[in-house]
Parts: sequence; C-alpha cells; structure tokens
Amino acid sequence: MPRYDFRCRSCGATFELRRAMAQANDPAVCPDGHTDTVKLLSTVAVTGGSAAAAPSPSAGGGGGGCCGGGCCG
Ligand SMILES: [Zn+2]
Repeated sequence: MPRYDFRCRSCGATFELRRAMAQANDPAVCPDGHTDTVKLLSTVAVTGGSAAAAPSPSAGGGGGGCCGGGCCG
C-alpha cells in the first residue's frame, strides 16, 4: 500500500499515512486531531536519465526522405 505524506496547517506537523491509492486525495487527520491538512508530493524514485532525452540522430531532418519532396503533403 502506498505511503503518503501530509502536513498539518494547524500545527505544522508532518505525518505519513498508508492508504489505498483510491483514497490518496481523501482528507487526512493530523495525529493531533486537526483536519486542516495538505498532501505533500511524495518523493518517487525517478528512473532513467539524460539518455532518454537525447535526440535521436535518425529522427526527422529530411535528407532525402519522402516528406522532403512534397509527396506527403
Ligand atoms: Zn495538527
């Protein structure tokens, strides 16, 4: 079950709850009983790296392709 971080705007405490994803946006109650809480963005492990954003040398650019001659337009 995923874990969500919340912060209480009444007392400033941060706490975490384990709840189903369907309930991720449900209001959470501070351990002190406050209901004015906000859900924090959880730190999700980022996979991949700059390699995924590298431009492909074979993508676009014409260079003798069909679209360079007007047959696609
Ligand atoms: Zn509180």
